Amino acid sequence: MKFLDIIFPQKCILCESSHDGDAETICPNCMDKISFIKDPACARCGIPFEVTYPIEESLNYLCGRCRSSPPLFDRALSVCQYDKTASDIISTYKYHNKPYIGKDLVSIILKVLYEKITELSPELIVHVPLHVKRLKERGYDQAYILAEGIGRGLNIPVSYGNLVRTRYTAPQVSLSGSERMENVKGAFLVIDTSGIKDKSILLIDDVFTTGATIKECVKVIKKAGAGKVYVLTFAKA
Ligand SMILES: [Zn+2]
Ligand SMILES: [Zn+2]
Repeated sequence: MKFLDIIFPQKCILCESSHDGDAETICPNCMDKISFIKDPACARCGIPFEVTYPIEESLNYLCGRCRSSPPLFDRALSVCQYDKTASDIISTYKYHNKPYIGKDLVSIILKVLYEKITELSPELIVHVPLHVKRLKERGYDQAYILAEGIGRGLNIPVSYGNLVRTRYTAPQVSLSGSERMENVKGAFLVIDTSGIKDKSILLIDDVFTTGATIKECVKVIKKAGAGKVYVLTFAKA
């Protein structure tokens, strides 16, 4: 135990148990509670298939939903299911002034999805931005912290301030599916399309729930002339 640990014992961000880590982080016990998404999964939206027999991954199976109405993005990747544990992690990260949790999430994302992301070889990372007013309220942009860490880990440039949120919108959490679509409609803008044009983009956010916000961002990024657009989130509903 180091001297500082005696004064400030390191606590798990979720269960608050003490542990020997270097900082306030997720303890091994809580780590085990994360519902990691396992293969086989839909080759487009990443939703896991509940099959009891082995399926050949290279065949790129698509789920029924992606087959009947293909999403705007080319591929979505997530670390885990958006259950109670994931939602606790994300809300602690976002709403309790703990930007440093982003570092933990980045290392989990890189550990779980390193190969899958590098296979896609995106050329530029863009994050789902907060409105400037919300950024001032919160003090940090949680998706940007993830984008910056992943960009550094994978050596991919990160674009900051090119995709912007032009409208201050109500939090999506309080709204139904159709209200969410309406709420974020026209809320994003690409300022300099030349920075995006013909590039394959990795769009990063903390969580993918109904997908309304992500869909709106993918729409404006594709309209700005992007090539492939991949989506990466920590959790997915
Ligand atoms: Zn814990
Ligand atoms: Zn799918």
